[in-house]
Amino acid sequence: MLDQARSLLQKYYGYPAFRPGQEQAIESILKGNDTVAIMPTGGGKSICYQIPALLLDGVTLVVSPLISLMKDQVDALNQIGIPATFINSSLTGAEVADRIQGARLGRFKLIYVAPERLESGAFLRLLDALDVAMVAIDEAHCLSEWGHDFRPSYRAIAPALAELRSRPLVSAFTATATPEVIEDIRSQLALRAENVFSTGFGRDNLSFTVVRGENKRDFVMQYIKARPNQSGIIYAATRKEVDQLHQYLQTKGYSVGKYHAGLNEDERKLAQEAFLYDDTLLMVATNAFGMGIDKSNVRFVIHHNLPKNIEAYYQEAGRAGRDGEPSECTLLFHPRDAQLHKFFIEQGEAPEDRKQAEHRKLQSMVDYGYTTQCLHRTIVEYFGETDAEDCGRCSNCTGNYEIEDVTVEAQKVFSCVKRMNEQFGVTMISDVLKGSKNKRIRDMRLDRLPTYGLMKKLTKNAISDLIKVFIAEGYLALEGGQYPVVKLQPRSVAVLRGEEQVLHKTLKPLKQAQAAGNEALFEELRALRREIAEAEHVPPFVIFSDQTLRELSDYAPKEMDELLKVKGIGERKLEKYGAAFLEAIARFELEAREVPEAAAAASDDEGDTPSHRVSYELFRDGKSVEAIAAERGMSANTVERHLFRAAEEGCELAWERLIQAEYEAQVMAAATELQAEKLKPIKEALPDEVSYTTIRGALLKQRLGK
Ligand code: ADP
Ligand code: MG
Ligand code: ZN
Repeated sequence: MLDQARSLLQKYYGYPAFRPGQEQAIESILKGNDTVAIMPTGGGKSICYQIPALLLDGVTLVVSPLISLMKDQVDALNQIGIPATFINSSLTGAEVADRIQGARLGRFKLIYVAPERLESGAFLRLLDALDVAMVAIDEAHCLSEWGHDFRPSYRAIAPALAELRSRPLVSAFTATATPEVIEDIRSQLALRAENVFSTGFGRDNLSFTVVRGENKRDFVMQYIKARPNQSGIIYAATRKEVDQLHQYLQTKGYSVGKYHAGLNEDERKLAQEAFLYDDTLLMVATNAFGMGIDKSNVRFVIHHNLPKNIEAYYQEAGRAGRDGEPSECTLLFHPRDAQLHKFFIEQGEAPEDRKQAEHRKLQSMVDYGYTTQCLHRTIVEYFGETDAEDCGRCSNCTGNYEIEDVTVEAQKVFSCVKRMNEQFGVTMISDVLKGSKNKRIRDMRLDRLPTYGLMKKLTKNAISDLIKVFIAEGYLALEGGQYPVVKLQPRSVAVLRGEEQVLHKTLKPLKQAQAAGNEALFEELRALRREIAEAEHVPPFVIFSDQTLRELSDYAPKEMDELLKVKGIGERKLEKYGAAFLEAIARFELEAREVPEAAAAASDDEGDTPSHRVSYELFRDGKSVEAIAAERGMSANTVERHLFRAAEEGCELAWERLIQAEYEAQVMAAATELQAEKLKPIKEALPDEVSYTTIRGALLKQRLGK
């Protein structure tokens, strides 16, 4: 049976081998045992029930909490040739009956259902007409009130299992489950001779970094600039912060969306989809964003603010790198954020012991911000693993720091705190050190202090940043609720006495994210993937994962059978997309040879401007698409996409230089007539000489109302 499972893995998914844990779980299921599998996010839980579903007689019901994901999950299965469908509240009664009938006729091997469905007796009777081989429960921690994400509707699963004509095999999957939660899952589902497999909580492809004492906005700018074309999420604490950061990044020309509970449902849906479909690469969001996304190619997650506990942090940060590709999780740590959480815990309605528990969890999160131990290990140990090793990737393991002696600055700050009788907050202390002439200072006669103006050469921001670093490193402490004051700590006293040196660790300047393999080809293939995805109305990663594109661009295969060796290309995808990708690779190699070498060395002095804006500016200055392509060492296609993107962002574009004006009306007529959103049917309906550029351009121009 396992051999069969392995050959299905290659045939449908294009993967050569199971991951640790997958094989055990699948084997256990195929032996007919109820099975619980705990694997980290991105560990590959879906395959653990999908492959058995193919091998079992009858249909597998997949219970999944996220209606918004079902369609994507089913699309992804259909993409690789696995017959699946979903049943949820977005369907009419007739559609549901139709799908059940289809399952009865053997048209589907998997049906995804929302847990609420199982509360309906009528639905259960429909199911009885089917041969249900297995019920697979995804995100099984939702069953337990001890979990972090309890869903009352999950409580309908156990009674439903009992009510079915014959009890199907049960499997349950989750990424985060403490022993308590597992016990709860087991007993609620009354699992028969269950097998529990756990591969632990570690995520080997994630590198964690804690950044202390940097200006957050500058850090974010520098970070995303070094990672053009990468998709990432930036979590901020409040709607206001999200709005501000979003606006800031937008004015800098970045492709960025936002998401928080203050937006209406349509706005949120649009933002989420644009992100899913790679229309916007960056998402600035509150923690309201994420439950409904399963995007596999998120390359980084930045936490602009401190989350309230490690569970929440790991869940949010863990949205990076579900595809197993190296991805980064960065926490911008500032102790003031902890102060805010403390305040909210105190303001909350919870009983006292619950509040104490929340304070302890918060403290673990704060400790994570200060720790010098391996960050990855700190996290998995928090979840109860005892045999974790240092990861060798995180900022503590790699020590990517520069060390600076700031003893003198520290003495100035500490003595000022002392002179101010430890009665003031960071702002006032910075004002005094700066020598500000504001009224409050004069009224309180703080300008008479010997430390007044002691650091006047620095900007006020630099001074307050420095104070915050001293707080983060435990030399100073913030005390008091809403308006905390700065207090000296024993360590700072030692510094004042000249007994201790203060070394300040700053993160070394970020290098350009490593360009593994052939970045330009990767970009071409990404663009092709996006075109196909648009035409098929599915998110790009459903066509191919980033990992697959990475292998394609590294190895640049030339023949169809070479493609099958690429991870993520099974038979079905080979048939559907193989030719298009081979052609793109061949075309790229040809063009690369034609681009003069000197020109290919793109200029370095582009400063802050994102790549597409550089192309736009050259075009605006009168250069043709071809000239820009040659100058920048990219294909004409890429340049065109740059221009369209700039136009979408509101830049004025000289459309007449791009599109064949004489055909514009025809394009629009064809688009209306065919009701087509895909380009291909429009292209086919028009004279041959009408270019794709014209079609794409005309449609965009109309959409933008130009
Ligand atoms: P989970 O539900 O555990 O978070 P998924 O089932 O969504 O994870 O899988 C995460 C990613 O890993 C998907 O892109 C999937 O195709 C990929 N994957 C799963 N199993 C394998 C495997 N054996 N080899 C390579 N990639 C795999
Ligand atoms: Mg999953
Ligand atoms: Zn580490």
